[in-house]
Amino acid sequence: MAQRPHWLFGDQLGPHFAAAPDPAAGGSGAGPDPDAPLVMIEALSVLRRRRFHRAKAHLVLSAMRHRAAELGDRVRYVQADTYREGLRKAVGDAEVTVCHPTSRRALGLVESLPQVRVLPNRGFLVPHADFAAWADRGGRRLLLEDFYRWVRQSHDLLMDADRPVGGRWNLDADNREPPPRGRAVLGVPAPWEPAEDAVDEEVRRDLDRWERAGEVRFVGRDGPRRFAATRDEALAALEHFAEHRLPSFGRWEDAVLAADPVMSHSLLSAPLNLGLLHPAEVVGRAEQALHDGTAPLNSVEGFVRQVAGWREYVWHLYWHFGEDYRGRNELGHGAPLPQWFLDLDADAVGARCLSTVLAQVRDTGWTHHIPRLMVLGSLALQRGWDPAAVTDWFHRCFVDGYDWVMLPNVVGMSQYADGGLMTTKPYTSGGAYINRMSDLCRPCPYRPQERTGERACPYTAGYWAFLHRHRERLARNHRTARAVHGLDRLADLPELLDAEARRGDAAP
Ligand SMILES: Cc1cc2nc3c(=O)[nH]c(=O)nc-3n(C[C@H](O)[C@H](O)[C@H](O)COP(=O)(O)OP(=O)(O)OC[C@H]3O[C@@H](n4cnc5c(N)ncnc54)[C@H](O)[C@@H]3O)c2cc1C
Repeated sequence: MAQRPHWLFGDQLGPHFAAAPDPAAGGSGAGPDPDAPLVMIEALSVLRRRRFHRAKAHLVLSAMRHRAAELGDRVRYVQADTYREGLRKAVGDAEVTVCHPTSRRALGLVESLPQVRVLPNRGFLVPHADFAAWADRGGRRLLLEDFYRWVRQSHDLLMDADRPVGGRWNLDADNREPPPRGRAVLGVPAPWEPAEDAVDEEVRRDLDRWERAGEVRFVGRDGPRRFAATRDEALAALEHFAEHRLPSFGRWEDAVLAADPVMSHSLLSAPLNLGLLHPAEVVGRAEQALHDGTAPLNSVEGFVRQVAGWREYVWHLYWHFGEDYRGRNELGHGAPLPQWFLDLDADAVGARCLSTVLAQVRDTGWTHHIPRLMVLGSLALQRGWDPAAVTDWFHRCFVDGYDWVMLPNVVGMSQYADGGLMTTKPYTSGGAYINRMSDLCRPCPYRPQERTGERACPYTAGYWAFLHRHRERLARNHRTARAVHGLDRLADLPELLDAEARRGDAAP
């Protein structure tokens, strides 16, 4: 009997999505038929629906086309307007299998097609059923720290029998150093970079053509591809990171340097989210570095926490919180995003932290977690921008942005629009935090410690205005109550609020 074809979405590009589950690697459940013919669909409607970053469109299409080239005759690669049309072109109404997609929209689509059989997801460590069992613990809060320790234990990660290696679960206290004084760059070897090839050239030509024809619109600048798009590239990027950058990952994990945007971060979110790497092999490689004595525990623990903790936690919360989560807006924020922000117009911005970070996003579609949270997200929160529009902006503008990862990170973590389901307090700060953790403030025309006047730091003024706007709610939260009381000591609060109101949505 002919084997049933198996459909690969554009974020299911690693070998683990096209083969039977490997029990040795912890895989279980049903898989595609062995050596099943494969189907990949490039649906132009996805690019038409949203104004994506040019670098993101390039990366995803490059990765898909590279994978198709590797698979050769085993794959039927179809360009179509929609997935439905592509599937019809590829297999008619024959039965196909597909691994559980990563968005509710795509899951809804495949479940609505009678010819499609949905198999368990492949790209994560923790199966849905295990998370559900963990989450069902008698109404206790779903705290990252509890989840992460449970993942460490259940996957035997950085464990010494039933104790954490080194005796401590959490080394965050060692991983919050400001950038080294007087250094413009961290001084670690540069991140791994790919060499573009003929596939990239073809993608670039197609994107140019579609844009010229008015079929799609992009945001951000075109530039050399910076992220892994094939399995070999992803493995090379992982190896390079583990050897050269993991050792210093922990210490400066939260620090920001204007001239060194990547510092010791891994740049692995894009290949992980494209499915080119499995998180088990990524954390396995980090653990190996600890055993080999080439990276210290604080770096390895910090990195494992990101991949086996945060990434898994965010994935499961996306499904756990349900469809309504997308529309949560507990703070009642409804302001539209201003045009300069939508256009990534870094040159319109005077505040050095924001213009630096916005330029990084414009030029590469990436910046690390602190600029995302404490510069971009914090500004949106302070200014009361509509959380759904902020989520859409992050989704479109970041090379690693997908629905599952955006909703918890932006609606919950960054915009507190879920009222505290995911975090115990809103993540925002005045300029003092940015000044302590970066070298961005020194040449800035604004002063982090000034709240009013010509040189008032927009983050400092915005922070107090935000606290004032949500005074009642934040006074009831023990983690923010003290800051709210601080408002009463600000003699210049009326002046500050007046200046904030007059500023409107102008670029700071
Ligand atoms: C507002 C906001 C938006 C974000 N949007 C995305 C996004 O669209 N896609 C994305 O992958 N990450 C997102 N993150 C998480 C994090 O910022 C990025 O994963 C990280 O900056 C990617 O760079 P890196 O690979 O060098 O990460 P590293 O600092 O090297 O971290 C290692 C890995 O940990 C994982 N990770 C760490 N934190 C998270 C997290 N909160 N959620 C999911 N994975 C995490 C990523 O896979 C990352 O590659 C967001 C964070 C915030 C605060």
